[in-house]
Amino acid sequence: MAGHVSPIKTGLGCRCPACGEGAVFKSFLEIAPHCSACGADFSKADAGDGPAFFVMFLLAITIMPPVLLVLFALQWKHSAEEVRWTGNGGAAS
Ligand SMILES: [Zn+2]
Repeated sequence: MAGHVSPIKTGLGCRCPACGEGAVFKSFLEIAPHCSACGADFSKADAGDGPAFFVMFLLAITIMPPVLLVLFALQWKHSAEEVRWTGNGGAAS
């Protein structure tokens, strides 16, 4: 029987919560079916789209501000304005 396993250490190290040795993840976003060290079953720990959501969320937070900054800077530089509504249906006057 394994001794006390720190949930903080195993969680931060992505290690098996039962033994603290085997890896929990098979790839970057995919949970392994079982522990490679003790054989604990991870199949009932279905994360669904959770890992993908957090990766997309962090990427959006880090990528979108520079993208919006460049867009606003280009609009400012070129004095871009919104299309003005003329009220005559777009017909030339
Ligand atoms: Zn294990």
